[in-house]
Amino acid sequence: MAALDGLPPLRDVIQRHGLDARKALGQNFLLDLNLTQKVARTAGSLEGVTVFEVGPGPGGLTRAILALGAAKVIAVERDARCLPALAEISDHYPGRLEVTEGDALKTDFTALAPEGPIKIIANLPYNVGTQLLVNWLLPAQWPPFWQSLTLMFQKEVGQRIVAQEDDDHYGRLGVLCGWRTEARMAFDVPPQAFTPPPKVTSTVVHLTPRENPIPCDVGKLEKVTQAAFGQRRKMLRQSLKPIGGEALLLKAEIDPQRRAETLSVEEFCRLANCL
Ligand code: SAM
Repeated sequence: MAALDGLPPLRDVIQRHGLDARKALGQNFLLDLNLTQKVARTAGSLEGVTVFEVGPGPGGLTRAILALGAAKVIAVERDARCLPALAEISDHYPGRLEVTEGDALKTDFTALAPEGPIKIIANLPYNVGTQLLVNWLLPAQWPPFWQSLTLMFQKEVGQRIVAQEDDDHYGRLGVLCGWRTEARMAFDVPPQAFTPPPKVTSTVVHLTPRENPIPCDVGKLEKVTQAAFGQRRKMLRQSLKPIGGEALLLKAEIDPQRRAETLSVEEFCRLANCL
């Protein structure tokens, strides 16, 4: 398929640069530029926006983000083999693509953040995706440096991100995401859309920061959710025993016989604030 941006088709790029996918780096590439545009469009208008991208790989999503008008893309890629392919995109869009070779888990994104609006868009490597999301949700300063997160995950992780109480997928991740953001699943992407295809369906999740999350210490919230969901089938008076048990629950005005998955985010915050 001829590319609308005048750059060569991604299959040619991959072949020319010898970018055979490596499983250890979570490399499942998106080669359909219509699909990468659909992912990028989920982030809303990119005019005047700096986009942080993790793992651009051969650059399919990067090209879509640039074609949709992002002022600049700052990308972190662990695989040095991808850098020459990304340099070609950089030449095509002078001054608009900056690529750093490195591990996104060790990158201080706040330090890289320029003035102006920032959105994060990424088809994340599955082995580090959840940890990166948690890192972006934890900063002491809130609202954070980013305006939105548009991220591809395995569908099961997406379901955990958007889950609310009384949902089988509800857990620590759902509480954290629900506390600080409004999260929604935008659309599913079948395995055959990737090269090579992964075993499971993926989903694009879009998160925007809540302006005024319930005041709560994140460390205490983590402590409460860890204890509660560590034994999710038990009553809370049992699972929360190590951190205060029934006394803590009564202080927070929560029935000790309830189970973790029935508590709303607001109730988890109340528990954390009573710790
Ligand atoms: N964005 C490309 C696409 O949509 O086709 C590639 C996505 S692929 C699922 C994940 C990418 O993340 C790969 O290019 C891989 O090399 C890169 N990667 C893996 N671990 C990384 C890490 N810790 N830090 C930065 N990039 C990483």
